[in-house]
Amino acid sequence: MAENQSELVGAARTIARDVLRQHAEDVDQNERYPEEGLQALIDTGICGMTVPRAFGGHQVSAVDATQIVEELAWGCPSTAALMLTWGGSVLSIAEYGSDAQKQAVLPGVADGSVTLSFALTEPHTGSDAAAITGRAERDGEGWILNGRKVWIGNAARATYVVCALKTAPDAGAKGISSFLIPRGTKGVSIPEIYSKMGARGTIHGDLLLEDVRLPASALLGTEGRGFAQMMHSLDFVRLITASHAIGIARAAYDAAVERAKTRTAFGKPIGQHQALGFMVADMAVDIQAAQAMVAQAAAILDSGQAIPQQAAAAKLFATEAATRVAHKAQQIWGAEGCRSGSMVERMYREARVTEIWDGTSQIQRLVIARGILGR
Ligand SMILES: Cc1cc2nc3c(=O)[nH]c(=O)nc-3n(C[C@H](O)[C@H](O)[C@H](O)COP(=O)(O)OP(=O)(O)OC[C@H]3O[C@@H](n4cnc5c(N)ncnc54)[C@H](O)[C@@H]3O)c2cc1C
Repeated sequence: MAENQSELVGAARTIARDVLRQHAEDVDQNERYPEEGLQALIDTGICGMTVPRAFGGHQVSAVDATQIVEELAWGCPSTAALMLTWGGSVLSIAEYGSDAQKQAVLPGVADGSVTLSFALTEPHTGSDAAAITGRAERDGEGWILNGRKVWIGNAARATYVVCALKTAPDAGAKGISSFLIPRGTKGVSIPEIYSKMGARGTIHGDLLLEDVRLPASALLGTEGRGFAQMMHSLDFVRLITASHAIGIARAAYDAAVERAKTRTAFGKPIGQHQALGFMVADMAVDIQAAQAMVAQAAAILDSGQAIPQQAAAAKLFATEAATRVAHKAQQIWGAEGCRSGSMVERMYREARVTEIWDGTSQIQRLVIARGILGR
């Protein structure tokens, strides 16, 4: 297990190359859980990178966390996506959880025996989180939960689901509360698992809650503060999501550079044709710019400032840059880049989903515009 923060970045780079890369294509093509990747996260302690030290984790800075996720995504986007799945929830539990919730979850995340899901999205609403209708109602001393969540990553495997539900249906965002739902709770089911274009190893599906009875202690944080609690970790989540996209872009870029040097057409390496050389240059600039935005925003976040605009800008730029880079990489690879399962074909699909999750590009633009112009 790595001992300190920068060692953890090095460990991420090593497992990305030696473990994650070796299984990434198989994970994608067979839409299977990245077991080897998760085991490597456990062996290195990366699975608990955001867990406070008091609970056995590494409590890494945002700067280190973003570098770790970038390396992991370069190796296997699905394995890296697991860290996105529980990155925000770990911070929420550490900040708002009761002592019992912290003890139940955090040491387990650090040693790999606990994994999490985060459930917000519903069939009728994703971007407009305040419009969720899944309900949590008081039931004597406890709660009774009903609703259907969609696109829930890791739900079939998670030991706990952090679930956002309405406790006051007419109060908009202020009517949302968070709950910690243990695996195996009666009334919780996963009626559908999807086949999807990217992060195919994270096993996303519907999460159905039918008269789920939970004790009062299942409330995470304060009733009616669920939305605000989510906002607390959102800057961090958006930065690691941006880094995930950068890792994908780097993987596509590496493949493109190799092809540009080795494939010949009209008597010279294709990269020596200026049109393709310029593509490679644009790809490098996109990646460097995205890395710089994330690094700057992460450093400010580490200094204790909230960075909603910078985090939104980094997420927006990095994810759209990843798609641009993967698109060019596929072009450079020609027909072989269209082969199912090839590196650049996979990275194109992986890049595309990053523009949707954790706030679409349009929502990031909304956040940035409001920061500049006001509401
Ligand atoms: C691979 C993947 C993994 C995911 N994992 C999870 C998960 O683990 N847990 C979870 O809860 N959710 C998860 N999601 C759901 C994700 O967070 C939502 O898809 C996302 O928030 C967008 O919501 P939506 O799909 O309902 O789109 P909608 O909100 O219906 O939006 C549709 C379109 O309208 C645009 N739009 C919406 N509002 C505005 C506006 N005000 N101005 C301009 N444009 C607007 C959007 O940008 C989008 O282009 C995942 C999604 C994907 C693709």
